[in-house]
Amino acid sequence: MSMGNRILSLNHPLLSWLQHSMFLDLVSCKEHSTDFCGTRAEYIFVRIRLISFIFAVIALLWIPIDYLMLSPEYFIPLLIMRLLFGLLFLLQVVWLPVRLRMRQVYLRLVLFFLVPGIFYVASQLLLADSHSSGFIVGYNFLPYLMVGLLAIFPLTLLEALFFALLCGLPQVLFHLFIGNLFTLEIFGELWLLGLLVGIAIWVELSQLHMLMRLYREATLDPLTALVNRRVLVRWMNREINDAARSHQPLAVLLFDLDKFKRINDEFGHLMGDQVLRLFARILRQELGDKLFYGRYGGEEFLAILPGYDLVQATAVAERIRDRCHQERVAVAGGEDISLTTSIGVARWQVGERFDDLISRVDQGLYMAKEWGRDRVVSAPGS
Ligand code: GH3
Ligand code: MG
Ligand code: MG
Repeated sequence: MSMGNRILSLNHPLLSWLQHSMFLDLVSCKEHSTDFCGTRAEYIFVRIRLISFIFAVIALLWIPIDYLMLSPEYFIPLLIMRLLFGLLFLLQVVWLPVRLRMRQVYLRLVLFFLVPGIFYVASQLLLADSHSSGFIVGYNFLPYLMVGLLAIFPLTLLEALFFALLCGLPQVLFHLFIGNLFTLEIFGELWLLGLLVGIAIWVELSQLHMLMRLYREATLDPLTALVNRRVLVRWMNREINDAARSHQPLAVLLFDLDKFKRINDEFGHLMGDQVLRLFARILRQELGDKLFYGRYGGEEFLAILPGYDLVQATAVAERIRDRCHQERVAVAGGEDISLTTSIGVARWQVGERFDDLISRVDQGLYMAKEWGRDRVVSAPGS
């Protein structure tokens, strides 16, 4: 998923097939792009909150049933456990991170899977001699329920295996503790749990696969393989919020290729496409992996430079403008195509919103065109 495709560069047919089929991205998230991680984190987080809310409500609703079925010596400790259980799940619902990352989501998932596991073991220990074996059947279902819930999260194979272990571990430890782990009955239980884990992993990998495909189609421009306007708008809003919070500078560059219509008219649309790809390559090489940029529209590109002031951003723009002078697209049997770009630069101002910043940088770009193209112009007010 990542922009720098390290694995393909190894150029081995098997490895490139694995990469192309998204197989490696299904196994581990190491190569997922930062933006995809953010998308997946949001997706998983919404589901954690929803299920946590349902859990918290059910845990509390069950209290009257415990009250009717159990004597006070069992009911009171179970009540305390239920209140704790409900509180921890309620915390998952109301505790919102400032900026959601996968690291946060992992922590939430550990809580999500571990709390019911601990509740399960504690309730088993407590109710083991309560003579309510019919009643505690409901409690026995907990590990199966948690393994089933694994299927609703789009996790990678390695992540899913880790959380499956987390679901099964309390049960294994419990049986080890009471000394019946190595019996046929428990073996049957664990076998069933293992089968469910297999099905759950199959379902959630299918979800991840679908999410990755939809994500690619919705966010990547097929011609240049840069992100599209939808992602750029999301990134801009996020970076503006970060800059407002951290009081760090933030700059944007808006590029428009010069006389691009003429390239299409003289050399054909396909050569025009080649020039767009070449410009995307220049951006990748000059801006690297740490900065944010993409195709804003037709032959317009946008770069977001967090931490850059106007002078630094202008230097980057000049470097890219200069690179364009050195590059050519070869035309079979004819002259090479050269390209130039006009660039507007703007520094974000405190309190400024996305639309205002874009309209200012667009004014800079307009002035660059007016003043003869192939130049960098700062937006008014920067
Ligand atoms: P200026 O220097 O004023 O920007 O002139 P220009 O010709 O670049 O500006 P104009 O906006 O008139 O033309 C942009 C052209 O870009 C028009 C459109 O056909 C072309 N274009 C937009 N998207 C693509 C694309 O994906 N491939 C190709 N080949 N051309 C495209
Ligand atoms: Mg244009
Ligand atoms: Mg143009």
